[in-house]
Formats: sequence, C-alpha cells, structure tokens
Amino acid sequence: MLRIIPARDGGICRIKLPGGVLSATQAHAIADASTLHANGVAELTNRANLQLRGVRSGHEAALSAALLRAGLGPASGLSSADDVRNVMISPAAGRDPHALIDTTPLCAELLTLLQSDARFAALSPKFALLLDGGERLARVDHPHDVWLAASPGEAGVRFVFGLAGCPEPASENPNAGEDCDTHGTGALAAVPPSQVPALVRALLHTFLDLAAADATRMRDLLATHAADALLQHAQRYLDFPLARDASLRHWERQLPADASLRLGAHAQRSEGMWHVGGQPPLGRLDATMLRGLAALAQSHGNGLLHATPWQSVLLPDVATQAVPAVLAQLSALGLACDPAEAITHVIACAGSIGCAKGLADTKSDALRLAERLPAGVDVHLTGCARSCAAAHCAPYTLLAVAPGRYDLYRRDGHPGFGQCVAPQLTIDESAALLARLARSTPHA
Ligand code: SF4
Repeated sequence: MLRIIPARDGGICRIKLPGGVLSATQAHAIADASTLHANGVAELTNRANLQLRGVRSGHEAALSAALLRAGLGPASGLSSADDVRNVMISPAAGRDPHALIDTTPLCAELLTLLQSDARFAALSPKFALLLDGGERLARVDHPHDVWLAASPGEAGVRFVFGLAGCPEPASENPNAGEDCDTHGTGALAAVPPSQVPALVRALLHTFLDLAAADATRMRDLLATHAADALLQHAQRYLDFPLARDASLRHWERQLPADASLRLGAHAQRSEGMWHVGGQPPLGRLDATMLRGLAALAQSHGNGLLHATPWQSVLLPDVATQAVPAVLAQLSALGLACDPAEAITHVIACAGSIGCAKGLADTKSDALRLAERLPAGVDVHLTGCARSCAAAHCAPYTLLAVAPGRYDLYRRDGHPGFGQCVAPQLTIDESAALLARLARSTPHA
C-alpha cells in the first residue's frame, strides 16, 4: 500500500485486509481514493485483499496517505511491515457452524507477531500463512508457506501443520501427489492453539536462518533441506517439544470445503444470523458497488465487509428477515449471488490492458466467455504462464498465445496447468469446447 508498483495501466496499490475484513467506513474511503487517485475500481484478490489499479502519476503519496488515514496500513506505518501481513483465514471464521475453532483471535495474534519482529521484514511479500479453522467455507487449495489446520484431538482441538502446501484432502485435490507442488510436506506435527504463535515464530526464524539468498519461499528451502531438519532447527526456538508425528502421515481435513457457500445466504452458528455473499464480475468493485456494499453492511449487517479469496464479498451477521432485501440489493449492485451463474466460475488476470506481459485482453475475453459458458465450468484466463490470478490450478486454464487466442489446458494431476487439450482457440471456440468437455466429464 505504501509502495505503488508501476504497470501498463498506471500504478498498482495493494491493500492488505487483516483477516479479509474492512469496515464500511474504510470501504467509503477506498471508493473515494480510487476515484480521486486511480481508475475508480477496487479489485478483490485471491488472497482476500484489495488492489487499486491505474494509480495516476504524481498521486501515489496522496493515495497512500488517504488509505493510511482510513486505518488500512500496518500498525507501524512501515512498508516492510505492510508486506508481511499475509495470514489467510476463512471469510466465515467464527461464524461457520462447522468450524472447530474461531480462528480470528489467533489470526490477529499472528498478524501482530509478523509485524512486531523486525527480522520478519526480510520475508518475501508473497510469504504467506494459512490458518484453517475447519470451516466448510474455506479456501484450502492454495499452497501456503506454512499451513495450520484445526483438527479434533483427545485433549481438544489442535492445529496440524505442514509446509509449502495446503490442507485440502488429497482425494479432493487432483494435483496432490509426488510431483505436485501443492502438497508440500503434508502434515508434519500438531500443537494446541496456545502454542501456534510460538510455533509460527520458530518456523519463520528457521526459514530466515537457513534459506539461501535466492530462496524466497518455503518450497525453495525444502528443495535443499529435509522437513525433519527444519523441525529440528525450529526446536531451538521453542520451549516445548516438537517432533514429527508419524501418526499424521495420512492426516486429512475432515470436512470437504465448499466454495459455493460464498454466494447467497447461509446460516451462521448463531441462530437467526446469516452471511450473505455476492461476486462482482471478475472481482472488480467500482465505487458505486463499494459504497452500496458499505451501506448494506451498515443497514443490515454488522458494519463490516469480508473479502473472500474467490474474489467475492461476504456480509456477515444479517438477520433472517433482512436476507431477501440484502440478496436483492446485491443483485441490483451487479453482484452474482448464485453459483449457477457462469460468471462466478471465471477468473482472469489483468491481461494485456494492464500488464506488459499479457498476450491477450483476458478481462474482456473472460466476460465474453462467461456469456457463452454452461453453468459450473471453472475457467481461468491468464495472459501469460505466470498465473497471477490463480494460486491454485483451475480445472480449465486458457493460456493466451495472441490477442483473442488461447491454448486450452485441462487439469490432470501434473504440475502447471495440466494437459493442453486444444491450441490457438478463439473465445467462441473455447466456449464450445468447454461445453463439450464439461458434458463428457461432469463436475470438472
Ligand atoms: S499472468 Fe502474466 S499477463 Fe497476467 S497479470 Fe500476471 S504477468 Fe501479467
């Protein structure tokens, strides 16, 4: 947020939202700032953050100052502290009826830890933690440098953890396997919730102690060090024993996650309360949408908006009688609230309009594709192989090769986008082939 990155369409300003949450007042401030200093659109990211694009030359300092005044910066005001604020939790943390534990207090503790130790400023801005409370609404297929997942134990809930992967059950993740970079170490050991901050601190110091200068992510460190060696090193920072737990070798998350719960209305743990969600096309919120969402959160919710890692927005704590009005108003604002709407299954990176590496205008092509797609086909359009819009491997990926032309890949359990099933397709050809493939492989 304090370091505006240049791009083809102007500067990019990333706004990290603690736990994905922003207040209605902050939403208004972002709408005002994006209109005044950028292109007027706030993009939801796959890390449940926001980014502003098209920041005008000469407006960078004024934009950062406006966002800081709104309380959207790091506690210290330093950009190094801003960069490390990467802890992902469920957008329904504390409210999901299936959760084993409310992860929000622990998330706040970890964010404080990350910002309070000056040494952690050396971590890559992409270095990220996942704290999974066992919710049904959870994104557990994104690889994280450190992941921790709540699991029932004999003495209560404990957090199983692993490195450079994610806690999605292997049975749910066609990518999981020996060759797969999403599986990482698998589950290594488990600690009670009270020991999580100390464990994370030890693992971060271990990474910084052992990682070579060009090793920026945990997967880089694991290429040169065994997981057992990392745990042994971490032990020197801990006052409780940490040993690899062989019984966890086949540990799997108990409950499959369900991303469709981000859309529409779903009952919370407290009776009579609902979270209501909608997805703006391609995760783009213009100022009118942002202000409308802020007003809805104030009139019918708890005054807070939750960004989700599927580039959608959740309004928590809506009373039963207000649900129909909130759904209607989300639709009126242009947000899709039904997973049957094809647009909720399409993601795209900035593409050639915003990025010099983009070989096609992925955003416009994605909108065109969504008009032609059958329901339920998850597609990722990417302007180049860097895959900025998706930290996971989508069931189908359209990789741009020229303006309006894409190679179509189908996920098949191998690293990368999977198998190339057809080259050089137009958007119309892509839609027709995807419809055929979806018919022949249901639930793709
Ligand atoms: S995936 Fe490639 S084209 Fe798209 S935003 Fe990233 S670098 Fe740019």
